[in-house]
Amino acid sequence: MSDVSLPSRHFKGRPASPGLAEGPIVVYRTGAAASAPGLGDAGWADLDLAIALTAERLAALRSAARNEQAADILDFQVEVLSDPTLIDSLARARTEGQPPAEAWTSALGLEIAGLRGSPDDYFRERASDLEDLRDRLLQQLAGAANDELSLPQRAILLARDLAPSRFLEIQWGPGHGLALMEGSPTAHVAMLARARGVAVAVGLGAIATRPGSIGLLDGTGGELILDPSPDDRRAAASRNAVTPPAVPAVIRPGPRPSIACTGDGTAIELMVNLNELAELDHLDPADVDGIGLVRTEFLFARAGLNDGHFPDEATQLDAYRRILAWAEGRRVVIRTLDAGGDKPIPGYTDMGGMNPFLGLRGVRLSLARPEPFRTQVRALLRAAADGPLDILIPMVTVPEELAAVRRIIEEEAAVLDRAGTAHGRPRLGMMVEVPAAALTLDRFDADFASIGSNDLAQYTMAAGRDDGAVSGLADVAQPAVLALIDSAVVHARHRSLGLGLCGDAAGNAAQIPLLIRHGLRSFSMPARALASVAQAIAAVDLGGGT
Ligand code: PEP
Ligand code: MG
Repeated sequence: MSDVSLPSRHFKGRPASPGLAEGPIVVYRTGAAASAPGLGDAGWADLDLAIALTAERLAALRSAARNEQAADILDFQVEVLSDPTLIDSLARARTEGQPPAEAWTSALGLEIAGLRGSPDDYFRERASDLEDLRDRLLQQLAGAANDELSLPQRAILLARDLAPSRFLEIQWGPGHGLALMEGSPTAHVAMLARARGVAVAVGLGAIATRPGSIGLLDGTGGELILDPSPDDRRAAASRNAVTPPAVPAVIRPGPRPSIACTGDGTAIELMVNLNELAELDHLDPADVDGIGLVRTEFLFARAGLNDGHFPDEATQLDAYRRILAWAEGRRVVIRTLDAGGDKPIPGYTDMGGMNPFLGLRGVRLSLARPEPFRTQVRALLRAAADGPLDILIPMVTVPEELAAVRRIIEEEAAVLDRAGTAHGRPRLGMMVEVPAAALTLDRFDADFASIGSNDLAQYTMAAGRDDGAVSGLADVAQPAVLALIDSAVVHARHRSLGLGLCGDAAGNAAQIPLLIRHGLRSFSMPARALASVAQAIAAVDLGGGT
């Protein structure tokens, strides 16, 4: 593994998802070559990944080896991969700008020639083991150049930043971590990582690694340590020692409609956010009041959304039905595609826009390019025949947008009627994530509303949620954001409109008392936050007031 004599290097950033990971650093690169096949396109990051994956596969073969000679060869090959002389020669080639496949072949070539010229039989035999290693790695490298994103079992992916759709394409496992040189704890990729339990640190600054670097990613401390010392490991382990309360551990107050309530008995609706169907596997519907937000842009991320190909009506219907079946009659709020901003979809969203967060995103895009939206609406209407399904529309800014959506829903319902296709009539809700919507909520023809505190905070404070340098400003506790929440609460009461909050603040136990005091009674959050939020709710005493 790593050269233990190397001094550790610390890169301090910000915590974005708790947990610890230790393993080889795999550098993720972006750019044109990432999608082009062939060894000639492979970059140095691909070589790092290929070395890490080859070492892992050889080690797995070694532990399965029954024959002493085979075990001996595999031990030798694994050792070569972390040999300091080889690593130094690759590092030199990298500095000189040599193509990595060429550098690897010539570094191994020198070793092979040396062994071949040896008078000793033993060393001459080793030459063919090295040839085998050379070719095995080149094969792996060709795979990496094809953009294969399988990580070694324990590995830390190092990237400048990572698109949420890319995050979803990677097979994350328990020992994995993500280190971002840029990024912000409030960006979507961090949110997805928290839901998956992948440790993440962001804003680490520029990091140069050498082949074979081992890293320790401390998601709680927000730090990446290269070539960590035993002391580094101990310190990081103690920072991450606090285990979050198990989910579920909600407070069950007895026979009331809601499963969480404040100390003085005020019922609070506790819902869960869903990004991927697999999240349901670890969750018992009895522990929530329902699903308060399904982010469909992530639900279908693996189904080719990245190429602008949308899942057809039947595929969507199947997914929505599965969610409703899981919920066993509890409320399910499904949000229509919220593309754009930091959730671009190549082939669908405007990739060249100057300011994607302020451009055609969410409902604006759905109305500008209505065909995929109409397909989604039909699938949602049909699924609504199975249970209580609410449709939620993202990024609504003016009443005309919601009115246009209502018309489309009516038209698609009429299409289904004519075809004799069973469907339901879902309630239509709107996200409150633009200050304009919070200020004028009473003017919208909505059946319910849900505050998207992530976007509401970024738009109110003019602080991009994906920009680590200003993410401290984009906080729901800022008086200006709270004033907008107050405005939404007053309008909602006036109109008897159900109003909840489904941004990240809903999953932050420390902010829940504040939000309850500002009049909110319904929260939808990542499953991991349910237990701590339920406890925070129980500790609130409204003392008879709101
Ligand atoms: C929000 O903006 O708070 C929200 C819930 O939507 P998303 O995080 O998906 O933008
Ligand atoms: Mg949002």
